[in-house]
Amino acid sequence: MRRRTGLFRRMQSSRRRTAGGGRRSERYRRGYSGIKNMIPVAVFLILLALCLPVHFSQTDGKDGSGRNQGSERDDGVTLQELSEESQEKVNVLISETGEVREIPLEEYIACVVASEMPAEFETEALKAQAVAARTYAAARKAQFEEGGCAHSDEGAYVCDTTHCQVYRDETALKEIKGDQWMEESFPKILGAVGQTEGEVLYYDGKLVEQPLFFSSGGERTENSEDVFVSAIPYLRSVESGDYEEDSPYQGVETQITLQELKTKLAAEYGEAGAQTVTSENISILGRTDGGSVSQIRFGELTLTGRQTRELLGLKSADFEVDVSGDTLTFVTTGSGHGVGLSQYGADGMAEQGRDYREILSHYYSGVEIGQI
Ligand SMILES: [Zn+2]
Repeated sequence: MRRRTGLFRRMQSSRRRTAGGGRRSERYRRGYSGIKNMIPVAVFLILLALCLPVHFSQTDGKDGSGRNQGSERDDGVTLQELSEESQEKVNVLISETGEVREIPLEEYIACVVASEMPAEFETEALKAQAVAARTYAAARKAQFEEGGCAHSDEGAYVCDTTHCQVYRDETALKEIKGDQWMEESFPKILGAVGQTEGEVLYYDGKLVEQPLFFSSGGERTENSEDVFVSAIPYLRSVESGDYEEDSPYQGVETQITLQELKTKLAAEYGEAGAQTVTSENISILGRTDGGSVSQIRFGELTLTGRQTRELLGLKSADFEVDVSGDTLTFVTTGSGHGVGLSQYGADGMAEQGRDYREILSHYYSGVEIGQI
């Protein structure tokens, strides 16, 4: 049984380091004792020897800030090791074939992070994503065991699509991303998963059930009830604009003709309402705390921002609309539903020196990180 291989390896190497330091001090002590004029040199060397372990532990920290010392692990953990170390398993519905695969939790998380977030993102962002993905899987498993998960009938806790979270196995990742990516980028993701092994989010002592995430936000994220049905205490609107600078989704333009809009409205909401729309009667009526359109008027029809986003295939519901002649230009900010953790925002926070714990507690209000 090879449990916690990486951790043991680290403990052994730190023991070696301590032992080496001790031998070095002893050698200095013996070699220089009795030689009075060498005392200042001996004192200097002893001080140097005492300082060395401190120096090592500081440079070991990935972010150089001295944070996360307890969970550091950048020693080349493999997918196989993560699999062997997993105490839990996840039943995943493979949508293409309909089969249900039982996958070791940490292996599943590594494959989800690889499928959901670019490996180029900062390690602390990848770690935040790993904890969110692990929390989602653990929450669905708990629901499954209580008989109420969306995939209970199929015998699975989660599916492998965006309905739950995207999961591609090692073979699929190799096909999509290539050998070079597997050799150079995947290890970074494996490290991020290993460094957060078993960690999940809790709110008020209970496992977080909806650790939602999305690609990129605007000035603020959204309150859950402004996008979905219920108000969830940890899914509150928080500031994100300062961290979204590298996002490619700021100010994306989508153009559509008035006639195209009317055709789409007619198909979804009926011909009568659609025919009332002119270039003169399109206006945004209100916005959410997060800045998304809460209501927009198209003639006699009133839609939510989310409905408009789905109807027109916009990147987000945070948009401005400009009507010029019979052409409408929608300019969107961000990508995705805007609730929970912004992936580009997480990357931006990490670039500014924040660690994954700070990222998670920023985007999920009031949560705590604990072991599964
Ligand atoms: Zn699903």
